[in-house]
Amino acid sequence: MVLNEKYAQVYFDKDANLAILKDKIIAVIGYGNQGRAQALNLRDNGVKVIVGNIEDEYRERALKDGLKVYSISEATKKADILMILLPDEIQAEIFNRDILPYLTENKVLDFATGYNIAFREVTGFKPPEFVDVIMIAPRMIGVGVRESFLSGEGFFSFIGIHQDHSGSAKEILLALAKGIGTTKKGAIETTFEQEAHLDLFSEQIFGPSFGNILRNAIKVLLEEGYPPEAVMVEIYMSGEFSYSLKEMAEFGIIDQMDHHSQTSQYGGLTRGASFIDERLPEIMKKRLQEIQTGKFAREWARVQKRGKDPLKPLKDAARNMPFIQTEKRVRENLKIKPKVSVKEK
Ligand code: NDP
Repeated sequence: MVLNEKYAQVYFDKDANLAILKDKIIAVIGYGNQGRAQALNLRDNGVKVIVGNIEDEYRERALKDGLKVYSISEATKKADILMILLPDEIQAEIFNRDILPYLTENKVLDFATGYNIAFREVTGFKPPEFVDVIMIAPRMIGVGVRESFLSGEGFFSFIGIHQDHSGSAKEILLALAKGIGTTKKGAIETTFEQEAHLDLFSEQIFGPSFGNILRNAIKVLLEEGYPPEAVMVEIYMSGEFSYSLKEMAEFGIIDQMDHHSQTSQYGGLTRGASFIDERLPEIMKKRLQEIQTGKFAREWARVQKRGKDPLKPLKDAARNMPFIQTEKRVRENLKIKPKVSVKEK
């Protein structure tokens, strides 16, 4: 087993100079989850921000927030730096139609994920060689990007440079990163490929394998006759476990255990080894290879081309999984209601 010990370069506020953005106009293209948060953070930091958006409710929201809004092509003409914060699936199409014809030398393209560039052979994304191409990929949803900026805590992100035509891509990257508030907590240098692979790994390998453990735990307890409300609260609904994950990030995986009872620590430390499954890393590596070789990106592109909503049949099948009806009933019994809809978040 060879573990990578080459640590990344991490940038903080002191490494970045916001003043270099003083005479630049920054266009946030797409005023959605990330777009709104990043635009407002930049504006609060004194940067000149405009918005490029289609005529929709997001446009109205940007106007209400007091920002100047243009069509995507108008914003492209006006701006020095373009932050492409559109959904990944439509970026190539909009880029080719509304952005590419209006790009001039040394404009900067910033992305919030490496996906479209990392898998450019599949996505058809080809920025011209006379622009800079950079990435600031927040490890945080849009609402969190805004809230952690306002609270002063900041948020992590992965940052990188794909193309440095002007010779000043790095200082622009760091200034933008400071402007949106990520160097407050830490901007970690990666390639676009590394960012995209890690993101997909979390989404399709870590998340689902962890979800499977969660479902198995519920299955065992329900089969053993424990009350569904108590089982679901015990395993995840109380939020206690997500609190422990936060503590792991803050204190370390082992040291956070000190905040649990002696009984809990003894039980966990003596029983943990029974769940080590040597096959799991092998399965994870196999799935990771599908990401690394572009197999997943090709499959996803093919599925999207079919036109119909590809997620609906998958979600319908997932809703038929055991315990989903039980979960619904438990949520009703416990009067759990989200404060805002998923869409609003
Ligand atoms: P959103 O889904 O919030 O959409 C962004 C904007 O794109 C909205 O204004 C939306 O308006 C607009 N849009 C959608 N379809 C079109 C279209 N056909 N033509 C023109 N505009 C359109 O995107 P996110 O903020 O979630 O994602 C933006 C980027 O940030 C992506 O690269 C993503 O990978 C990255 N990212 C996202 C994170 C997140 O938490 N969501 C976290 C980290 C990175 P409308 O819907 O009205 O059409």
